[in-house]
Amino acid sequence: MGDLKGKTALVTGASRGIGRGIAQRLAEDGALIAVHYGSNDAAAKETVERITSAGGRAFMIGAELGVPGDAEALFAAFDAELAAFGAEPGLDVLVNNAALNFPGRIDEVTYEEFDRTIAVNIRAPLFLVQHGLRRMRDGGRIINVSSAVTSTAHPSQIAYSVSKGGVDTLTLTLAKDLGARGITVNTLAPGWVETDVTAARRATPEGRAALAAYSVFNRIGRPGDIADVAAFLASDDSRWITGQRIDVTGGSML
Ligand code: NDP
Repeated sequence: MGDLKGKTALVTGASRGIGRGIAQRLAEDGALIAVHYGSNDAAAKETVERITSAGGRAFMIGAELGVPGDAEALFAAFDAELAAFGAEPGLDVLVNNAALNFPGRIDEVTYEEFDRTIAVNIRAPLFLVQHGLRRMRDGGRIINVSSAVTSTAHPSQIAYSVSKGGVDTLTLTLAKDLGARGITVNTLAPGWVETDVTAARRATPEGRAALAAYSVFNRIGRPGDIADVAAFLASDDSRWITGQRIDVTGGSML
């Protein structure tokens, strides 16, 4: 896989789950990783420890997303921690991974849940890109994490699905705008993955089997399955791919 030595990557929501997997994988390829988290600093610390004990380099930045001024606050922390780490200013890879999900159908969703979902899942990534671009070197990479819910209907997750539709459109629109700088913008769309989000559904053998059955490989995805594709998108090997939504569902949508 590509060599990310000398590159700096920011992964949002890297304290747990898929974000942690992506952070670890990009660190293995040589990138210095900014491990972003919302409130779980113990989990973020563990991500940093996993990276450093494997010979990689990382620091953590806490910032709540979905609140006014979130992108400014996150990048102020990023700049400060990068300088404290003794690294050159600048950014090469931005992974917009952090998100939340309030399940609910059209007759259940509330204004508050909808607004919160939009604020965290699509407003925050858009403004993180705005602020990130002021730091991103030409030839950089933006990787947005969407979901299988934008290619097949999941009525029980209407707010989440709409927010992830926004992520797909953000990718498409940015890719056209940023090509002149050699920056690629792509979306990863996972299916069911073994993270805290799916823990309750995986709690029984029947539940695990039901999630596994979505994939043609008859297993639930692991963070590493997504992270390996993120590493490709972060690398120079993917330079001719932009504006794309990459299905990483283990064939769940076939
Ligand atoms: P997790 O719930 O395991 O982790 C979420 C991460 O996002 C945590 O690091 C959390 O920080 C951070 N985060 C959440 N809300 C906020 C917020 N308001 N402000 C700051 N940070 C926040 O998620 P997954 O790993 O399961 O999912 C990662 C991505 O993959 C998401 O975009 C999700 O939609 C997508 N996805 C996941 C699937 C799955 O089956 N798991 C399927 C399809 C898509 P903290 O630890 O501090 O709380």
